[in-house]
Amino acid sequence: MATKYIFVTGGVTSSLGKGIISASLAKLLQARGFSVTIQKFDPYINIDPGTLNPYEHGECFVTEDGAETDLDLGHYERFLNVPTSQANNVTTGRIYYHVITQERQGAYLGKTVQVIPHITDEIKRRLLLLGQSGEYDIVITEIGGCVGDIESLPFIEAVRQLRWELGVNESCVIHLTLVPYLKAAGELKTKPTQHSVRDLSEAGVQPDILVCRSEYPIPADLRKKIALFCNVKVNSVIESLDAESIYDVPLLMRKEKLDERVISKLKLPHKAEPNLDSWKEFLGRLKNPTDEVNIALVGKYVELPDAYKSIVESFIHAGAYNECKVNIKWIQSEHVTDENVAAMLSGMDGVLVAPGFGERGFRGKLEAVRFVRENNIPFLGICLGMQCAAVEFAQNVLGLQNAASTEMDPNTPHPIIDLMEDQKEVTQKGGTMRLGSYACELKKGSKAYSIYGKSKITERHRHRYEFNNNYLAAFEEAGMHATGINPETGLVEVIELQQHPWFVAAQYHPELKSTVLNPHPLFVKFVKAAMNHAKSN
Ligand code: GLN
Repeated sequence: MATKYIFVTGGVTSSLGKGIISASLAKLLQARGFSVTIQKFDPYINIDPGTLNPYEHGECFVTEDGAETDLDLGHYERFLNVPTSQANNVTTGRIYYHVITQERQGAYLGKTVQVIPHITDEIKRRLLLLGQSGEYDIVITEIGGCVGDIESLPFIEAVRQLRWELGVNESCVIHLTLVPYLKAAGELKTKPTQHSVRDLSEAGVQPDILVCRSEYPIPADLRKKIALFCNVKVNSVIESLDAESIYDVPLLMRKEKLDERVISKLKLPHKAEPNLDSWKEFLGRLKNPTDEVNIALVGKYVELPDAYKSIVESFIHAGAYNECKVNIKWIQSEHVTDENVAAMLSGMDGVLVAPGFGERGFRGKLEAVRFVRENNIPFLGICLGMQCAAVEFAQNVLGLQNAASTEMDPNTPHPIIDLMEDQKEVTQKGGTMRLGSYACELKKGSKAYSIYGKSKITERHRHRYEFNNNYLAAFEEAGMHATGINPETGLVEVIELQQHPWFVAAQYHPELKSTVLNPHPLFVKFVKAAMNHAKSN
């Protein structure tokens, strides 16, 4: 079967949840036996989101092959349980970069290089790339931004051309819009949807299916009206109500028959009804917890929880696995001091110190680590969180005054955390960290080993600094053990404290590999440790 293409566009406003709708549709099609992947095309000019502050678009998600990507790719992986790659996230910057590089090489043979056809050709080439691998029956492309934005025009134009080239029944367009409720009028309003479909049609793209976000159910007469004004069948007006959890959305879309509409539009072979047993089982456990724990997330971007998206979702997966509700208390690390740390962390059954960059909030993270170390509270440190755990231990247990990471204090007498050797010559910021999947060997008999149940693991990375092995012997002597090591480079990947019920920190990012079907063992066991802590208190 030739690969079929689904394009998901958005109108009226951003933040309608195109990523979740795309992932939910993919889940339903996957549950019917189709092989599906999702890619995201973002209209901004950055080559990738790696150089963006998390306040801009939230977390930067890192793939196995080391691509720094949009956080929606995290949703794709969590829903589908299939890894994505560099090819799954393309930006305007990447498209132009490629075309301009070609131009400098003389590849256009003296022609004037233009948005149409050169930029749109390159967009189309990338739109088809994953489909041409032969691995997928269906490729879903989410077009970032809103229809009508200047910057998304070349993408919409490329979709228009490609649909024509692919021919009838080979592609379909799903447009996500908003049907707002006007309190004063006491009515749901369809005009914004009509306008945004008109914008899309003016660009030459007629949507096949409308997914209408709404706070209230959309009655039949309103669906008819939308269908009439927007040239879609009434059964292709899909209602998408606010959900209690993003993981409800596949079932809500199933109820609205989104998958059936797509199958009929694309003339796909009618495979079995979707098998969603394991998904429903997960939801059952998620919604019927028998335990509850409070876990503090100490970070400096806490005003925007999207900055820690994968961590939050990993807690949801691990909570469901343990049938335990995980309440996250967001703690701004800049506000934590040695005087208030006890009050700020009081009542916590576990503390996670989050990844991050730069000096801001670093001291507060050290205080949080000291408090949990001294008070036997379960602790999980991730990336910068692990580096904090090492620096705190050096300062307060080994008594090394002014021990630090050279990221925060380049002149420290004790560079416990130091720039990796292969980072020393690096001057460019974009795409130059230690990125993606690396092997790690866990020591038999360690907590890490018992958590994973095996010694050979791979995990994803995103950092420039590392634990300085010159201090390893002193650390181990004092009870902080390196229990995960990169077998090729000797880099320390996991440290854990012997005399503590549960104190584990990793240089890598376990949150990037947790999915609904495969909750990450570190999170599962951390939540379990927090449950034990809650019970013993
Ligand atoms: N800033 C630290 C480093 O670059 C940690 C990075 C992170 O937490 N992702 O090594």
